[in-house]
Formats: sequence, C-alpha cells, structure tokens
Amino acid sequence: MTECEQSRVGREFLDSVSWPTLLRRPAHDQCYCHQCYSSDLPDTLTVAGYTYVIPRGWSRFAVSVDEDFFNHHNVWKTWLNCYHGTSIDNARSCVEHRQLLLPNDITMYGKKLEIREDHIPGEQYVFTTPSIKYAALGCYGHTYDFRSPRDSKLYTIKVVLQCKQKPDSIIAQPETVGAREREIKICPHFPNEVLEWKTKHRSSVMIYGLLLQVKGEDAEDDSNLSLCQSISITENQPHESIIIPPQSAPSNENVDNNPKSPPSNQAIDNNSKPTRSIASTYRSKWASMSRKRAALLIILVVSTFLPIAALIIGQIYKNDCPMQPWIPRWLIIFGAMGLAGFGLIFITMSITFQRCSKDTEVGNDISSYMFCLLILFFLAWLIAGSVWIFPANLEVQFNETNKKTYCHKTLYKFAFGLSLVQYSLIGVLICCCLGNVF
Ligand SMILES: [Zn+2]
Ligand SMILES: [Zn+2]
Repeated sequence: MTECEQSRVGREFLDSVSWPTLLRRPAHDQCYCHQCYSSDLPDTLTVAGYTYVIPRGWSRFAVSVDEDFFNHHNVWKTWLNCYHGTSIDNARSCVEHRQLLLPNDITMYGKKLEIREDHIPGEQYVFTTPSIKYAALGCYGHTYDFRSPRDSKLYTIKVVLQCKQKPDSIIAQPETVGAREREIKICPHFPNEVLEWKTKHRSSVMIYGLLLQVKGEDAEDDSNLSLCQSISITENQPHESIIIPPQSAPSNENVDNNPKSPPSNQAIDNNSKPTRSIASTYRSKWASMSRKRAALLIILVVSTFLPIAALIIGQIYKNDCPMQPWIPRWLIIFGAMGLAGFGLIFITMSITFQRCSKDTEVGNDISSYMFCLLILFFLAWLIAGSVWIFPANLEVQFNETNKKTYCHKTLYKFAFGLSLVQYSLIGVLICCCLGNVF
C-alpha cells in the first residue's frame, strides 16, 4: 500500500525537525486523513468507558511507550484518550522526558519550565483535553509552514500530542478561550463545560503518539484562531471543576459505560473548589437551559403583550382621567417605548445571529447597550408613574365623571396593575441574579 500525501509530508516534517527516531514506533502509526480513514467510519469510539474522539484529518506518528508500565497500570484498557496541543519543540521535549512536565519542573537539560503566559498564573497543572478540536486551537497546537523537499509544495502543519490519562487524576473544567460567552460550541462531542482537563499527578499522562495535521496551501483554515485572542479576558474567572468518574469495570472495552455512571469516591481532589460528577454537570446544564428558555419566553410575552395593551388602553381612555391626566399619557409612552425598544433589540439580535460568529461581539455590544438604556428608562418611568398612580389611590372614584377625582376604572386599575407587575419583575430579576451568584 502506498503512503498517503499527509503521512509522507508529516514524515518529511519530522525529519526536518530531527524528531528522535529511536523513540518512534512506525508499526503503530495510523493515519486518519480523508484517504486513509473514510467518512463512513465512526467519529468516536468508547474506550475505557469514555468517549474517544477519533482525530479525523490527522496522522499519528506513534511514540514508543514503556510496555511494562502500560501493562502494570493496564493503561490501554483503563486510561482515557486525550490530547495536548503544543509546539513541536515542547512535543519533542515531552517525548524525550516520556511525560508531560509540570510548570516549575526542571528538565533533564537543567531548564526550569515557566508557566506559559496564556495559562492561569498559580495553576501548576498539566493541561489536556478530550477534544482534538480544542487541542488544535491556535493557542495550544502550534502551526508551522513547511515546504516539502520532494515537490517544493508549501504545507501548514499543526502539532498535537495524543496521550492516555489516568481517569481519577483528571479534573475537568470549562474551556478557557471564552467560547461560552460567545456561544460557540468548540467540539461536537463534548460540551464546552468539560473541555479542559488538568492534573497535578505526575506520570498520570502518557504520550503514545504525535499527531500532525497537514494541509496544502490552498486548504481553508478551520482552526478558528479568533477564539484564542480572548484568553486574557477569561483567565481570571473561577473554574467549575469536575472529576472524571474512574472506571469501575475495566475488563470489557466494549461495554458502553456512559458518563452517567455514578462518580466514585475514589476520586482524589487536588482542588479546594467544589467538584461535581460529569453526569450532574450535564443534568444541571439541561436544567439551566430549559429554565433560561422559560424565562426568555415569559420576558418575550410580557414585553410584547404589556406594551400593546398599555398603548391601547391609554389611547382609548386618554381623556377619561381628569384626576391625573398623566396616567393615560404614562401608559401610552410606556407602550410606545416598550414596543420600539424591544423591536429594536429583536432586530439587532436577529442580525447578529445571521452574521458569522466572529461578528457577534459587535451586535452583542449594541444590543446590550440598548438594553441597559431601556432598563434605565423604564426604571425612571416606573418611578414617575408611581408618583402619579399610587397617591391617587386614596381619593380616586370611578362613578362621578364630572368630578375632579374621577378616573376611568379600567384605565386606573390597569395602570395600577402594570406598575405592580413591573415591581414584581424587578423582584424576580434580583432573585435570579442572586441565584446565579450563589
Ligand atoms: Zn492518510
Ligand atoms: Zn499546555
């Protein structure tokens, strides 16, 4: 069988960076390029009871492993597959050390490992990910321009290490590239909330392959580099950490041990922050999503129905409140502002959704500005309305139309109710905010 272009160029690249040949195991090389791994083959496998995402589009250049170590710890069957995106120099150093070193470790060449500036200061962990997509992001997996010595064609080559990781060493946490704020789902197989794995346990990550993604000059770049530019923004937000539930029955590889299996208390937690099992993260994610949806629906109904009703009632009875002529005006202005404001927000939001994800920030900024302005206006308008409506409650009467204390019953009751509804909405909002904080 002839070698595919991707494997050949990858091999030429490794020669050019003097990749340690004695640590290579070509017999275990595996190419997942579109030629070698056809599109009807599975995207994922279940290995050690957890999803192993096949690195589709990548070529594995196998690295020799310590067979006795692997047999002793039953690594192939009980450890989880993961990826570590890095530079080719770091990858070589990791392979030569046979492990991923922790920050502040001193290499065998006497060099102290600094914490990468884009990692969180004070967090001395080894970072991995179950998602090849996440590992391949520009901030992790480095990309190199490479000219093939055979045909002088230019290629870009991306570098990721393929590893096995001891399940109970893993603390899973959300991605740290700001994808959640922008509502970008990085990996189709894992939620953003569990994309990053970290551990302080030495020798709990074993490298078994170097993955290279080789692309011709003309191939389009889907690596979403823009995702990485916001790292500094999200760096300091608290991570919610989850421990991967360790394997209970490692004997049978084909048993579909889905992640809903209860977390084992064997899990060792290095982290003082509260930890939860993956299963409960999934569950709470769904719960919070449906809660969000319900809240959105209520807000939509209230924000379209109430302004229309206020506009109509204010218009019908605009001369029927000699006691406080500002009450019908208050309703009309409330209705008009409500409809116009929410209409504008709706339009900007739908424009934002139609555009590609890179531009979302612009649209989000505008609509959140307008949202703030609207909220401020409604607060002020509510206070003004309260001044006109509530004191009138003491002397208002709904029968004698020619007296100065008259106000139409429907008009007055509606205005009264509307201001109460707004106050209770403020209460609900405050509760929601407090609920999110704790
Ligand atoms: Zn191939
Ligand atoms: Zn790293």
